[in-house]
Amino acid sequence: MKAESRELLLSGAAELGLDVSAHMDRFARLLTLLQEGNSRLNLTALRTEQDIVLKHFVDSLSCLRGGILDNEGLDGELQVLDLGTGAGFPALPLAMVRPDLQMVPVDATRKKIEFVAATAQTLALSNVHPLVGRAETLGRDPAHRERYDRVVVRAVAALPVLMELALPLLKVGGLMVAQKGALQGDELDSGRRVAGMLGGVLEDALTFALPVSGDPRTLVCVRKVAPTPAGYPRREGVPARSPLS
Ligand code: SAH
Repeated sequence: MKAESRELLLSGAAELGLDVSAHMDRFARLLTLLQEGNSRLNLTALRTEQDIVLKHFVDSLSCLRGGILDNEGLDGELQVLDLGTGAGFPALPLAMVRPDLQMVPVDATRKKIEFVAATAQTLALSNVHPLVGRAETLGRDPAHRERYDRVVVRAVAALPVLMELALPLLKVGGLMVAQKGALQGDELDSGRRVAGMLGGVLEDALTFALPVSGDPRTLVCVRKVAPTPAGYPRREGVPARSPLS
């Protein structure tokens, strides 16, 4: 990793109150694996080293803002599902700096999960448990429905769609964290309304700017306060095709 990328990662993380200096070797290996994987598998649109470090690594770590992934006095390790992880974001950076989190990166695309699994193995991340599947299917499977303390989700869909995909997977008392750019029009209001239909309460929308680029970011936090009604999530593809409103 180039000196300026290291600096960017260290200072971006420091802004979050994190010292990632002990993890720099693993981040450098992740960068190499991603660049190699990208030329074979077309995993991510981000190609330059600076873009990957800022928009994948630093951005992924930003869901540690505000203590969102803290344990809140629960017994044991938090079970965290990363919905639509793609090439492993935010799951892999989070798992690196927070070995206490049990991380389950999920994606509908097998080749992406194969990459995440191989990468986790190379980096010796024993707290990463990748899974191929669709949120709609897992959300109806008793092995996964209402089993997770946190669902993190970055760049997958608009808020009302995310509510239907993510809330069924959360335990009552758990928290969904959606990493978004600037919110569109009434996205927050419709997200709040749909959360209410599915047992969630929109707790917080934290806005900040990504370092260097200044790109706007919003962390939308939704607490699950009641079980999700049995009819949700609807069939595969329906949540995105006809979002609840
Ligand atoms: N979170 C990653 C990838 C975003 S791209 C990042 O921020 O870089 C969105 C990913 O979500 C794709 O890989 C797609 O396969 C996955 N996805 C979309 N809908 C899904 C669903 N219903 N269930 C599981 N994965 C889904």
